[in-house]
Amino acid sequence: MRRALIAVSSVCDLPLAYVSIYPDTNANIAVRNARLTGVRPLRGPCHGDLYDVTAQPESWWRASAPALPRRQPLAGETRAEVAIIGCGFAGLSCALTLAQRGVDAVALDAGAVGWGASGRNGGIVGLSSDKLDMAARIARVGEAEARRLTETMVEGARRLRAFCAAQGVETQGDAEVIVAPDRRAFAALRAEAEAARWGVTAQLLSREAYAERGFIGPQQHGALRIRPGFALHPLMLTAALARAAEAAGARLHPFSEALRWRREGADHLLETARGVLRAKKVVLATNGFTPDALHPAFAARAMPVLSMIGVTRPLSDEALSRHAWAEESPLTNTRRMLYYWRMLPQRRLLFGMRGDLSGSRASAPRWRARLAAHLARAYPAWRDIPLDFYWRGPICATRAMAPAVGRLADDASVFHAFGWHGSGVNGAQVAGRLLAGVIAGAPDATIPALWRGLPPRIPLPGLRPLWLGATLAAYRAADAWDAR
Ligand SMILES: Cc1cc2nc3c(=O)[nH]c(=O)nc-3n(C[C@H](O)[C@H](O)[C@H](O)COP(=O)(O)OP(=O)(O)OC[C@H]3O[C@@H](n4cnc5c(N)ncnc54)[C@H](O)[C@@H]3O)c2cc1C
Repeated sequence: MRRALIAVSSVCDLPLAYVSIYPDTNANIAVRNARLTGVRPLRGPCHGDLYDVTAQPESWWRASAPALPRRQPLAGETRAEVAIIGCGFAGLSCALTLAQRGVDAVALDAGAVGWGASGRNGGIVGLSSDKLDMAARIARVGEAEARRLTETMVEGARRLRAFCAAQGVETQGDAEVIVAPDRRAFAALRAEAEAARWGVTAQLLSREAYAERGFIGPQQHGALRIRPGFALHPLMLTAALARAAEAAGARLHPFSEALRWRREGADHLLETARGVLRAKKVVLATNGFTPDALHPAFAARAMPVLSMIGVTRPLSDEALSRHAWAEESPLTNTRRMLYYWRMLPQRRLLFGMRGDLSGSRASAPRWRARLAAHLARAYPAWRDIPLDFYWRGPICATRAMAPAVGRLADDASVFHAFGWHGSGVNGAQVAGRLLAGVIAGAPDATIPALWRGLPPRIPLPGLRPLWLGATLAAYRAADAWDAR
């Protein structure tokens, strides 16, 4: 059995130390760091390296944003009305809104503020929050609720743009562009364009028309420009949310992982390495880092899926002209194993994709090379432009194919927001705001029906890397079939 697992691991790049049927004998770097620094690493189904909160992702965002102010870890006993676990977009927007309403909120993060996906994503602001198409959304929650969700996301994008403008967060473009990588995909875009409504506008452009306004390349067979949409600097946004939350009265504590969560009468007690946070209500906003062991209600609900980003060296005018590049807005394609990309204001191409199952430091060079190869296939004239930055992080899938936002059915003082399926820049903030409203007294039904409740648990959760590997293999096969 052990040999078979090792063989599977070497082919599929699986983090065997985190497959529960295999004993965790690998003393990984995160654990070693923890011994040296006293900061305990998070644990989850990806390789331990990914949960090393002492290591910052070497991202373009970190290289191009001002350093975060120093904040103190939680120490001693602290009281709050609401404790928030996770200082990403969801946790920070919840803390900000609560503080603006005069509710005393304290937010903890295992790493630095924004250490999770919020500080290292592609910065694409779109209108999706799930993995369902409109027909499936309507089938699940009805047309009125599907419409309310769309309108909520449209309003979220508008508010986010206004917040960025007010806070000096770098933004770009006026749409989210979906590119058809082959002729068949263009037909699907046509159907999507015809279905656009409820505050969404869509402009369909043929391959030739988009060549004039976007770019040319072997994987450009037309495009759909969806509005509202834009791109932003995610780490600047995280910093701005944190600043605004603190200015409104919220308290934030980095390097304060909630290690244990217990009840004492009506109080929740969150224990960290050096402190205890006592609160009447708790919001879990941990997305792809959601720990299985912290609270039984959340065990095996989240499926972390790694997403990788490379950023090239700046492109010259001549290099840009080789693909007739003119697009300022962010782009994705229609593949299941999708690419997402954008030309940064500094004329560096940011290119993202999925597929790494491990997240180990050892796997990084291999995946960096694969990402460069995918980029070269999409933009052959840029194949020699080197990548200056490469990093990755987990997005969060669920079995419901939709986010899980709301409060527990059997404990009205526990709230949650996770499961953004790789599109949480807009949605996670909307959710944080809506949860704060519910905590302050708004009805639970203000949360869109598609998001409410918990998804089914993942069976044999220790085998998540295997389930994910099989799913991604099926996605690749389906993409290849579509592109034939
Ligand atoms: C590489 C990449 C690219 C992406 N690109 C895009 C994009 O272009 N557009 C888009 O819409 N979305 C994108 N996403 C997804 C988006 O970043 C996320 O959906 C969003 O940031 C989720 O925010 P969050 O606050 O829910 O979670 P996170 O930002 O991940 O925050 C969760 C936090 O919880 C903390 N935590 C976990 N457990 C504990 C604990 N026990 N105690 C204390 N703290 C804890 C973690 O340290 C982490 O900081 C991308 C994601 C990745 C990884």
